[in-house]
Amino acid sequence: MARKYMMAGNWKMNKTIGEAVVLAQDISNQYEDSWLKNCDVVVCPPFVDLKPVKTVFEFDRIEIGVGAQNVHWAESGAYTGEISVPMLKETGCGWCIIGHSERREMFGETNEGVNKKAKALLAAKINPIICVGESLAIRDEGTTLDFVCAQVKAAFAGIEPDEAKDCVIAYEPIWAIGTGRTATPEQAQEVCAAIRSTIADMYGAQVAEEMRVLYGGSMNPGNVSLLIAEPDIDGGLIGGAALKKESFVQLIEACK
Ligand code: PEP
Repeated sequence: MARKYMMAGNWKMNKTIGEAVVLAQDISNQYEDSWLKNCDVVVCPPFVDLKPVKTVFEFDRIEIGVGAQNVHWAESGAYTGEISVPMLKETGCGWCIIGHSERREMFGETNEGVNKKAKALLAAKINPIICVGESLAIRDEGTTLDFVCAQVKAAFAGIEPDEAKDCVIAYEPIWAIGTGRTATPEQAQEVCAAIRSTIADMYGAQVAEEMRVLYGGSMNPGNVSLLIAEPDIDGGLIGGAALKKESFVQLIEACK
């Protein structure tokens, strides 16, 4: 079964509500039905922008998904500053990035936390986009595959196959995020293939064949085609290039 590409824009901590609505409208104005033949398109703005961006896409009746960039695993309670799965659900959000390296590095996100978040999201039918990836020190040490595959195993611990299939994994080498330094297609393919084989060991060949593994790290219109031509790279999680309508649309169109 051929997997459908996915292009997911991670807007990070950019765009006020007004700016987010403008960018969503700009993307919507460029939208063509033909995008969705080969590609699922998702944008992940900051929490406060989720509902306004979703409203733009609903009003224009276009099938662009909306995702959050983080969530808490508890339903509700004394977690000042956090957002719960039911809160996301009410915004109409269908996706949620978890385990992004910026959250792991700056906000103490752990493999255990990523696993709890994945389970809470799956229970509410919000699809997790689970980020994994190595630092430059780990790459230089030669332990990238072991490190990344251990992150994958930890993220999926205790998740059943019928739920695992709804997850997307994003391989994002930390040294390539926001640096302009992209992994070569061969480097990215090697890790994405190892991730898929870890999923095959855990869940069997069919789940592994169906699950999408994205690449993230300075993906742009100039390097996208070679990256997504690799057999185990099913699209991108995109930071900088998702903040401009022109480049985001070019990345989607590369999947045609
Ligand atoms: C990201 O933050 O997920 C990312 C891949 O960023 P960039 O595309 O800017 O490297």
